[in-house]
This record gives sequence, C-alpha cells and structure tokens, in this order.
Amino acid sequence: MYMSLAVPDNGVDGAAGGDAARHVGTIIIGSGFAGLGLAIRLSKDGHRDYLVLERGSEVGGTWRDNTYPGAACDVPSQLYSYSFALNRDWTRSFSRGPEIQRYIQSVADRYKVREKHVFGCDVTSARWNDDLGRWELETTKGPFTADVAVFAVGALCEPALPDIAGIDSFAGEVFHSAQWNHDVDLAGKRVAVIGTGASAIQIVPEIAKKVAHLDVYQRTAPWLLPRVDREYTALEKFAFKHVPGYSELARFGIYAARETQVVGLAKYPALMKGMELLAKAKLRWEVRDPRLRSKVTPNFRIGCKRMLISNDYYPALGRDNVDLVTDAIDKIRPDGVVTADGVERPIDALVIATGFHVTDSPMFAGIRGRDGRTLAEVFDDVGQQGYKGSAVANFPNAFFLVGPNTGLGHTSMIYMIESQLNYVADAIHTMRRTGVRVVEVREQAQAAYNTALQRRLHGTVWSTGGCASWYLDKHGNNTTLWPGFTFQFRNMTRRFDLDAYETPE
Ligand code: NAP
Repeated sequence: MYMSLAVPDNGVDGAAGGDAARHVGTIIIGSGFAGLGLAIRLSKDGHRDYLVLERGSEVGGTWRDNTYPGAACDVPSQLYSYSFALNRDWTRSFSRGPEIQRYIQSVADRYKVREKHVFGCDVTSARWNDDLGRWELETTKGPFTADVAVFAVGALCEPALPDIAGIDSFAGEVFHSAQWNHDVDLAGKRVAVIGTGASAIQIVPEIAKKVAHLDVYQRTAPWLLPRVDREYTALEKFAFKHVPGYSELARFGIYAARETQVVGLAKYPALMKGMELLAKAKLRWEVRDPRLRSKVTPNFRIGCKRMLISNDYYPALGRDNVDLVTDAIDKIRPDGVVTADGVERPIDALVIATGFHVTDSPMFAGIRGRDGRTLAEVFDDVGQQGYKGSAVANFPNAFFLVGPNTGLGHTSMIYMIESQLNYVADAIHTMRRTGVRVVEVREQAQAAYNTALQRRLHGTVWSTGGCASWYLDKHGNNTTLWPGFTFQFRNMTRRFDLDAYETPE
C-alpha cells in the first residue's frame, strides 16, 4: 500500500511538528504534468519512498493556475494526454483549460498518487549538503531532507510583471493572467490588457464581449494562424472511446504532422514563408480596416516567437468597444494608462498578460548547490545550461523536469516530459541498483552537450527570425527550446548515462 502522509507528528499537515526534518528518498517539487507524471512513474516502478511537495492545493500546475477566461490549449487534444493514460473522452479537437484540469485530476485519482502529495507546501529553499550527501529543504510545512530532489516546477509559472512607472499606484482592480481574480466582474467596466501573447489573445475575445471598453496594449504584433477547433461529433467520440487503435492512430497522425514543422523552425527557416503566406491571408481576410491591419502586421519571420492560433482575436480587435494601442506605455496613473504620446486612457481594471519569468525564474535563487552558489548565480554566469534538460553541474542528485532546452513551440510538452520521466526514473533506478549514492553531471559532459546544442540553435528561426523573445536569455542564447525532432530527444533520454556523471564517494 502507499504510504500515508497523515502522520500527526511529522509537521507535514501543519500539525504539531518540530524542528526534525522528515527524510524521504526522492522529493519531487511541483505537481503539474511533469511532477505528477514522475510520481506515477515511480509508483508504477514499485518505489514507495518518495513525496511530492506542491505549493497549491491541487495537482495540475499551469492548468490549475491559468483559469483566465478563454484558457485553452493550442496543441490538439489527441496529443495532449499522457501516453500511458490516453484520454478517450475529449469533447473537442482543442481542449479548454477546465477539461484538461479535470483530466489531470482524474489521472492522479486513477493512479492513487494523491496520498503521496503534500499540498499547500511551498518549498522556500533547497540546499545540497555535501557532507551528508543529501538535499535539505525548507518548506512552509516544515523541513525535509531527501537523497534526490526533482524540480518539476514548470517554466511558465512565475508571473512576470512589467516594470512600468506608477503601476503600483493603480487604484482599480489589477491582476496577472495566471492569477485571474474571479471575484472581479469586468462587465460594464473600462479595462486594459497589457500584452498580446498566447494568454492575451485568448483573454481579449472573451472579455471584449462584456466590458464597456477595452484597450489592448501591444508591443509586438504576433503571428496568428487558424484554430481548427470544433466539438467532436457523436460518432467521433464513440470511435475514440470504443474503436481499438483509433485514438492512437489519430494521436500518431497529429504527432507526425506537427513534427514536420521542425524542418522549417529549426533547419530551414526560409521554409516558414509558406506559413507566413497563410497567416497573411488570414490577416487580410479578418482585418478589413487598413489602419488596424498595418498595426497587427508582424515585422519578423513567423515562428521566431511562438505562433499563435485564434479565430476570434482579430474580430475582437475590430469591435467598436476595443482599441489596439501600439504607442509605448509611459506610466500608469491611479485611474488610467498614459502612453508615450501623452494620451491618457482611463480604466477601471488592468489585466497584465505579460508572460512569465522563464530564463530568470525567482525560484533559481532558492536552490543552492555543492559549492554554495545558487542556481541563479550559476545561470547568471554561464546562462541557463543543463545536461539533457535534466541535470546541472554543481547540483548533485538534483534532476530538473522541463529544464533547460526542453521547451517546444510546435507540439506537446507532454511528449518531452515523458522522455524526461524515462531518464530520471532510470537514474533513480540505476542509483539503487548500483549502490551509487551521489551523481553529479560532469562539467565537461555538460559543456560538450551545450556547445553542440547552441551550434544547432544558431541557424534556427528563433535566432535568425528578427525578434526578441523569452526563448533567448540575457546572453542571447536560446536556453529554452529543443532544436530537433522530439523523437531525437526521446532516444537520447531513453536510459540514464551514468558515465556522464561524477560519482564522488
Ligand atoms: P508571452 O508569450 O511571454 O507574452 C507576453 C506578452 O506581453 C507579449 O505580447 C509581450 O510583448 C508583452 N509584454 C511583456 N512585457 C511587456 C511590457 N513591459 N510592456 C508591454 N508589453 C509587454 O506570455 P503569455 O501570453 O502568458 O504566454 C506564455 C507562454 O505560455 C506561451 O508562449 C505558451 O508557451 C504558453 N501558453 C500557451 C497557451 C496555449 O496553449 N494556448 C496559452 C497561454 C500561454 P513582446 O512580444 O514585445 O515581448
């Protein structure tokens, strides 16, 4: 049976507790698709000595947190579930946030891993103790120690707030897209949205219908492609659920089709012109007003930033109660936004859809490695570098899910996550099997890996497409995206390669 957490004197439930740290073999931090997937994998492999520390009160990660109106996935539903727990009940071709969150919760229930979670447990710091050969974690539910720490905290979880003068003085309602305040009724209000990324283009059409007036502040016009979203017919739903192999076939077809995009994105950016033509035709069709059309026409190669899909964003911008503002924001006053041309637009509520700290996550400052430096300090020096997206030199016995250069813009992150689950689960298994207590990726192995990676990234559209994006860090390196086919990453992470690691002892 699974170990229960309901032990009254261990501090886990915020009950009695004391100063004694609770020791666990493996601690997983975060329970989104990645952390939850690893918990299930470890349970399936027969491991019992692990815990998942989750700061929220539920599993789901980004899908639990991003409850903004219109939240939906831009990866087709059939590809957006774990391979070991295919969802045969999707109701539409592109799923909406609540349906994905229900799926994640159902998987947690099905595999009975909730009891391995400590919810409401925010890890405030994690420090490698080299003398004792273990991780020491401070959390809001007391101290823990672990032989192995797996950071599955997600790349898109720490809201990035814009550094705009006076933003703190704003007197109305203000919230970030990932922290939507559902107590605020925007109906009939004057609202501003800052940002025109993946989140904003889903929010804008939803709230435009109910607000009195909406100002959308755009810094860079994004490329938009059609969203082929529809409800499945009853026959399709029946086939996905009951016809053997039908879900799997659909999944493989979508996977293969999406993988072809890598050729344009990562190998021959000139090929992206074809997609640009499609996006331009859509733009011409959906935006009839020439002034608005010129404002929303992007000035970089498609694919350089994440390609967005929407059928209702451009029409929303064309509404009488919506203005697209392209002048830079100068400052925010208690009751409005002032642009560089001196115009003040009064508002009652401000929605900040400016994305996340990806290459500069504040979480990095709380993880201290072998030599006492934090992950933030190490990354500040050399950029966000890792080995196979899963390990970082100077951080023994630490693994990272959705770590450096594992991101994708064209297909499902769950595929990459499952590749990493193979690698990390095999690492834990290998350590047990061989009796090796400490593993730390060799600096040379990491350096060679990154040199090869950056060489591959050099000619990609993300580097050559003429845009500034969060894919690039402050050194100008792309430390977020995987530059190849995803099956190449799968092959590379199939087994843990102990020989790339130091095994001090
Ligand atoms: P994002 O893609 O980083 O977009 C942020 C937007 O805010 C951009 O338009 C950016 O302009 C703008 N911005 C940032 N700082 C600003 C400032 N100081 N002043 C004015 N504008 C500013 O963030 P996101 O839309 O939240 O999406 C993040 C990622 O989450 C996506 O790339 C995607 O991976 C994921 N996501 C996926 C979905 C989906 O599946 N449908 C939905 C939402 C999010 P610039 O372009 O000029 O930087």
